[in-house]
Amino acid sequence: MTGREVRLVSWPDGLPREEDFAIVETDVRTPQDGQVVIRNTWMSLDPAQRIRMRKGASGYLPAFELGATLDGFAVGEVVESRTDVLAPGDYVLHTLGWRDYAVADTASDRPPTRIHVDADTPEQLYLGPLGWTALTSYAGLFDVAELRDGDVVFVSGAAGAVGSLVVQIAKLTGHVVIASAGSAEKVAYVQGELGADETFCYRDGDVAEMLHAAAPDGIDVYFDNVGGDHLQAALDALRPGGRVALCGAISSYNATEPVPGPTNLFNAVAKGLTLRGFLARMYAHRMDDFRRDMQRWLAEGRVSYPETVIEGLDQAPRGFIAMLSGGNVGKTIVRI
Ligand code: NAP
Repeated sequence: MTGREVRLVSWPDGLPREEDFAIVETDVRTPQDGQVVIRNTWMSLDPAQRIRMRKGASGYLPAFELGATLDGFAVGEVVESRTDVLAPGDYVLHTLGWRDYAVADTASDRPPTRIHVDADTPEQLYLGPLGWTALTSYAGLFDVAELRDGDVVFVSGAAGAVGSLVVQIAKLTGHVVIASAGSAEKVAYVQGELGADETFCYRDGDVAEMLHAAAPDGIDVYFDNVGGDHLQAALDALRPGGRVALCGAISSYNATEPVPGPTNLFNAVAKGLTLRGFLARMYAHRMDDFRRDMQRWLAEGRVSYPETVIEGLDQAPRGFIAMLSGGNVGKTIVRI
């Protein structure tokens, strides 16, 4: 049996180009004891994959090797099993995306996990509102930023996968939400559909001035998806005791030179701020709480989950580049 895989063939210099990727047809390995073959049906495109497309250390996940198949979250159906843990027909969430067929080891440190799929719960929801991206929004607000009654919350990247859920969760728990995004259409969507109280397009001017205009009395929580000028602006706008959930810094992911840090970090001293970085996997223990709450909010129609669907594995590189450039709303997933 053969299947397609997407490989990285050159290190992107700045924004990746389609030529940095190659799609190859290759034999699917024969599974060994403890392994399963998964026919991938959907995969996730994530900004963190860009961090790994860099020579050498990447921070928290290993850099991709040139010539090697990319990986990332995917869902699919087990089609062959050499373990008692999973059977053909089971649907699983796993980390071997960017390929038609994955041969996964159930004894690895990141094994495929069975997911419940039915007519109301298609498997791709586990890449979106029931998956790690959405856990990021949930744990980032409740556990990392320690959301409290009366908090004014500012979130950047607000039309994206993480940000769109941050806006909605903060609103449905009774908070005032200020949100930024990269186009007039996105800002209108975040305010009109997702319910943010105040919004601005960060391309329209100085972020600090626009944040001050949106929240003249300041903010208590900043959910940072962007870093750079947004973090700088938030440090000035935070009120004493304010908290920052450092979730990501996408403004620097395509940078070709070192990016300067905020010049106003002394605010953290002067105002007793807490800046806490996190990864969703540090909050894996919250997955059950999160899914219970999210499934209820979805059933009650209190949360929507915007998606940008890329059709076909061969279009995944183009979709990835588009997502990094702001061409998506909500979670970007590829139908394989
Ligand atoms: P996303 O927001 O759905 O997609 C990326 C978005 O980033 C683009 O749509 C674009 O929207 C925005 N962007 C690109 N360049 C930008 C720039 N220079 N300044 C401001 N915005 C820019 O992606 P996501 O999956 O939800 O991820 C959002 C952030 O969360 C990323 O920083 C990611 O690394 C982080 N993250 C962290 C964890 C964790 O465990 N800590 C987990 C998942 C994601 P605009 O059109 O608005 O520019």
